[in-house]
Amino acid sequence: MTRIVSLILLALLLLALPLAGSAEVVASSFYPIHLLALNLVDGIDGVEARCVAAPQTGCLHDYQLSAGDMRALAEADVFLINGADMESYLSHVFEALPELRVVDASADVPLLPSETGETAYNPHIWLSPANVRIMIRNLAAGLAEALPGHAEAIEANRAAYDARLEKLDAELREGLAPFSGAEIITFHEAFPYFAEAYGLRVAAVIAREPGDALSPREIAELVETVRGLGNPPLFTEPQYTDLAAKTVAAETGAGVWVLDPCVTGPEKDIPLTYYEDVMLENLRVLEEALGSDK
Ligand SMILES: [Zn+2]
Repeated sequence: MTRIVSLILLALLLLALPLAGSAEVVASSFYPIHLLALNLVDGIDGVEARCVAAPQTGCLHDYQLSAGDMRALAEADVFLINGADMESYLSHVFEALPELRVVDASADVPLLPSETGETAYNPHIWLSPANVRIMIRNLAAGLAEALPGHAEAIEANRAAYDARLEKLDAELREGLAPFSGAEIITFHEAFPYFAEAYGLRVAAVIAREPGDALSPREIAELVETVRGLGNPPLFTEPQYTDLAAKTVAAETGAGVWVLDPCVTGPEKDIPLTYYEDVMLENLRVLEEALGSDK
């Protein structure tokens, strides 16, 4: 019996040994933050970026941490969060893992109030590239503290990414300038930061938060709102059903388009430019939708 126990212990020890000296783990709460982390630790040996919520999760509204998520966090050297009320589970993390180093990307980002009433702030801050430039500054500073041996490489990555984001911001600004003041109707409360940055107006929101199915009465009210606004384009999100939008579109004749809030994406071989690619595709869609409106 003791022999079996010691064999098991030996096996466990052998399993644990290669792990002991292995990668330092940077955990991110969800996909948009994971995209930023991948850029910040790009090319740095011995550092591994992991996304806690599965890449197809979407926003973390009402998200509950699984046992697997908790294990992933227990293994992490640092935990990067969006902040601004996105990770509603945070108090559970602080309670269970008081030693875990948490870096909040939203510090110094000018926050908009939430209109859902469920949280104080609208958490969809990453949809403005100007905000992302602040976010990567916060994340890079936290990462440099957590991984001091890699501080220089992290800062070099941040500076390179910042230059790309500055270019993206300018491209969006230039592309959307002709549509300044245009009204759009979006699927959930994801786009106010984007709209504010580029002079668009979110005139109505189809469903306050994903998962809220609309009642026939709410659909009827939405039809009235859309008609009252002169049938501006409706924007759904690839992560959620577009049934309500299609119903409203059929009633009003408003066009339906897809805007991607970049909360989901590929799990493996994620291009470092994924955020930029999605935002430029959103620009293309907006140009088409708003252009056809004129
Ligand atoms: Zn959301």
